Amino acid sequence: MLLKLKYDSRSVRAPVISKVAIEENALINIIEAKVEPRYGEIVVEVDDEIAERVAEKFKKYGVEVRKLTKSIEKTEKCVDCGACISVCPTGVFERGEDDRIVVNEVKCIRCGFCVGVCPLKALRLPE
Ligand code: SF4
Ligand code: SF4
Repeated sequence: MLLKLKYDSRSVRAPVISKVAIEENALINIIEAKVEPRYGEIVVEVDDEIAERVAEKFKKYGVEVRKLTKSIEKTEKCVDCGACISVCPTGVFERGEDDRIVVNEVKCIRCGFCVGVCPLKALRLPE
């Protein structure tokens, strides 16, 4: 499961991800990170079985936590140009038998590369 963590310098003054990982004996994979001196937004991936417990521990340390859906979404604006195929590191996009783009959402790791290259703005990462 993916968790989006938001914090500011008032609420977090400690290495919270390391603390939660150690205290909950959890593997925490950082997927996205926007970190500034006084504010941060980080998306982490944790096993579904421990997600609730890990989320509660982050909250205890003053971090705002939201669960994210993992999948990329393709809208009807898509014209099947194929630009997204070449940039996706995990092979989410393929051409189907009718030559149209098929999306295998479960492979998505939310890197955002495809969103940036789509000329029709047909892709979005659900928040
Ligand atoms: S880059 Fe955009 S328009 Fe092109 S195939 Fe991918 S989703 Fe469709
Ligand atoms: S966000 Fe990254 S992993 Fe997900 S579909 Fe786009 S390029 Fe692939």
